[in-house]
Amino acid sequence: MTIRLLPSTTVNRIAAGEVVERPASAIKELVENSIDASAKRIDVIIRDGGRTFMSVTDDGCGMSPEELTLAVERHATSKLPGDDLENIHTLGFRGEALPSISSVSRMSITSRIEGADSAWMVAIEGGKKSEPAPAAFGLGTIIEVRELFYATPARLKFLKTPKTENSHALDAIKRLAMAHPSIAFTVGDGSRTTLKLPRSQGDMLSARLDRLDAIMGNEFATNALAINAEREDLHLSGHIGLPTLNRGNAALQFLFVNGRPVKDKLLFGTVRGAYRDFISHDRHPLLALFLDIPAESLDVNVHPAKTEVRFRDAGLVRGLIVSALRHALAEAGHRASTSVSNQALGAMRPETSSPKSYQGNYSANQNRPGAPSAGLREAAHEFQTPLNNLDGSLSVKEVTAEQIKEVADDWPLGVARAQLHETYIVAQTDNGIVIVDQHAAHERLVYEDMKKALAEDGIKRQGLLIPEVIEMDEGAADRIAARKDEFSELGLVVEAFGPGAIVVRETPAMLGEINIHGLINDLADDLAENDEALSLKERLADVSATMACHGSVRAGRHLNGDEMNALLRQMEVTPHSGQCNHGRPTYVELKLADIEKLFGRR
Ligand code: ADP
Ligand code: MG
Repeated sequence: MTIRLLPSTTVNRIAAGEVVERPASAIKELVENSIDASAKRIDVIIRDGGRTFMSVTDDGCGMSPEELTLAVERHATSKLPGDDLENIHTLGFRGEALPSISSVSRMSITSRIEGADSAWMVAIEGGKKSEPAPAAFGLGTIIEVRELFYATPARLKFLKTPKTENSHALDAIKRLAMAHPSIAFTVGDGSRTTLKLPRSQGDMLSARLDRLDAIMGNEFATNALAINAEREDLHLSGHIGLPTLNRGNAALQFLFVNGRPVKDKLLFGTVRGAYRDFISHDRHPLLALFLDIPAESLDVNVHPAKTEVRFRDAGLVRGLIVSALRHALAEAGHRASTSVSNQALGAMRPETSSPKSYQGNYSANQNRPGAPSAGLREAAHEFQTPLNNLDGSLSVKEVTAEQIKEVADDWPLGVARAQLHETYIVAQTDNGIVIVDQHAAHERLVYEDMKKALAEDGIKRQGLLIPEVIEMDEGAADRIAARKDEFSELGLVVEAFGPGAIVVRETPAMLGEINIHGLINDLADDLAENDEALSLKERLADVSATMACHGSVRAGRHLNGDEMNALLRQMEVTPHSGQCNHGRPTYVELKLADIEKLFGRR
């Protein structure tokens, strides 16, 4: 056995295995270097997904010929002046990227510092570097990488299609660009520019929102809540999407710590926790969060790729994120994202290719024997009769546009005008209409009421004049009886009543009149299906949904004008009422301007 020190080229290739997993990681390292060099503008060219060619050009501080030679040596860095790993303020610090990339590719670096007569260039092929030679270039640095991984063919085999590799590279650049809105970025293949991000001006928050708008799309920017929170010396800022704007995966969740994009399980888990009440477990909100934390409270030296971090006080970080997000979501109140009404508009837009069929049907109806033209009037009258007695409050029938204008500020969800299909409340606002899914809305109100009551003085109960006995199979009755203390806390007082029966004595007052039989059976089914280990309080969203299902405002129940307006007013003052317990919207709002578009009036 002979033990020997490996030659530096081999050492660098071993490091490259971790630092440069794929072309995107090389691009990320090069762009990070440009950001660390205080560049104001960074231009990236990628061909073949980065496999045959990539270059990163910046207008940063540049390197002198001596620095050029050193930069590609292993563990050579300008970024740890005090050798202090506890105090890192740059994206780089390991001095590994350039030697790693250059050991597995053909690389050239051309750079010029301020005050120098010319630029200088070094070329490195498979780890062997040339002497610096004068070259023509403006201020800053251009690094070109050709035939990445030619020296490690095993790695080449693991690359995906150029298109996939390209999108990974683009993703890495976008992440860095989000955290640095004051730097202009372009990405292209040399002939065509695919991403162009101008410098964002203004204060940090608005510059950042501009950049997020450009990268995540306008839908996010218009449906995002600003976050700005502090705890001790941590600072959290950024934007989070409304829960109703969600996706099937977490690809549009971006987290940054001290300007560094991170993929940290702890942080992602914390975000999930903050949204848990507002979004179904298989949907993911969109967000970009920026955490600033004193360098000494953070360890970024976890992995060569530097995308993981460790916090000295993880609990503090979690607490800050959860409270800031919950607070913002609560303040958003009943707001549902515009994407909901956009979807609705999309669905409603008539097929422009065959508008004639509408006319066809219309005349066919008119000619039909016994066409209900008189009957319709009657039906319309009937429809409104139960809504007449509205003592003093704005009448569903009679309300005028002026009256609606007067209350517009206080009643953003408008004045109820009709109930359709005994399920949807149609309300008129100052400049549009609101359609409420009464069941989804009520479900949410019940849930929020229960949460609040539990936290304060308990859920109010309402005694039944005649206790109701419900017969069911023995197992089901046992399951309900076993949880009777928990149910009683939630406002439902039940007891075992011999084998295979339950007696119900009190119900939650907030539910109004309920179908007790249906409720108890559903709760029993629910207990049979779901995790025994979780308390009912922990599953409050499900339990309250089941309860709301049997309460007075379920779908299919007729509501009078007072009841409808009461529901709207309650929604306005209830946090999170813009979506039901499962993240579906409880209402959509259509602005007159949009409706006019639907009819081609605009
Ligand atoms: P690290 O970034 O960890 O210091 P790198 O291998 O990425 O290690 O880079 C080595 C050094 O080369 C850097 O510390 C920096 O001084 C210099 N350097 C790399 N890229 C640039 C650039 N675009 N502009 C100016 N200096 C650079
Ligand atoms: Mg670096």
